[in-house]
Amino acid sequence: MSLLDVRDLTVTYASGAAAVRGVDLRLDAGQKLGLAGESGCGKSTLALALLRLLPTGTRITGEVLLDGEDVLTMKWGRVRAVRWAGASVVFQGAMHSLNAVHRIGDQIAEPILLHRKATPAGAKKKTGELLEQVGLPAARADAYPHELSGGQRQRVMIAMALACDPRLVIADEPTTALDVMIQAQILRLIEQLVADQDLGLIMISHDLAVLADTCDRLAVMYAGRVVEEGPADEVYEDARHPYARALSAAFPRIGDPASRFAPQGLAGDPPDPAALPSGCTFHPRCPVALESCAEEDPVLREAGPERRAACVLVGRPADGAGEAHEK
Ligand code: SF4
Ligand code: MG
Repeated sequence: MSLLDVRDLTVTYASGAAAVRGVDLRLDAGQKLGLAGESGCGKSTLALALLRLLPTGTRITGEVLLDGEDVLTMKWGRVRAVRWAGASVVFQGAMHSLNAVHRIGDQIAEPILLHRKATPAGAKKKTGELLEQVGLPAARADAYPHELSGGQRQRVMIAMALACDPRLVIADEPTTALDVMIQAQILRLIEQLVADQDLGLIMISHDLAVLADTCDRLAVMYAGRVVEEGPADEVYEDARHPYARALSAAFPRIGDPASRFAPQGLAGDPPDPAALPSGCTFHPRCPVALESCAEEDPVLREAGPERRAACVLVGRPADGAGEAHEK
């Protein structure tokens, strides 16, 4: 049984906007899955849906099996327990997520007291251990958020996420606000913790280079769907879906400063989830679209060993001479 098995997940906001459309994902303990895409592609919505953290009125269908238990149908009391001990989220922007008027030690201890039913002494001890795990001295528990640097605050966020020993950690743009050196340190820390504690990790970012560097597998989302997935290095180096290729070209190769100055951006914006284009939702921006792409909505199909992509060109000879008629 997988740690996480997401089946046909669809999220529709009360406005009617389809933010996530029929997503399947699987993750085992110790695995790191990167979820990539521009802002507005549905990746944060998907992450929030996994823990039912979306506003009332949002319709979520499909299955989210965490250790075999469907989060979408469980009772609220159970959901609350699962949010800390089953899976937890590291949000972007630690300054906004931490409470400015409470010492960080108290903030880390709170879920331990609440969900682990620990004694105050027990929670304090665990808090010190967590701070040390994320590379901060236990004595920093007495500090207020403003007394810490951006990188230190993000370490605190990670300590909080680990407070109740979750099996799965979802990190939403965990390093976006940090400079490159600190970003690398935080990524190494996350990798270390995942390996030491055999966690499952879903890391969300618009930066494919960061994800490819950290994760085992990548799923690239566009307009609420996964349009490409496969081993991280392969998707990054040799994407099959035109959108994934453009995303990959938009970020510098790690360790290749020259490429930093030649990003190939993608023209246009992602579509409005309330008014998706017909056919392949990427067709208005796709540099290699066929006429039929305005009508044909491609599904994910095999694109090599352990790889899938949703594009009508996948599996066709490069010269386009052969006709593929699969649907
Ligand atoms: Fe481009 Fe057509 Fe492939 Fe969509 S299906 S990505 S429009 S070539
Ligand atoms: Mg987001």
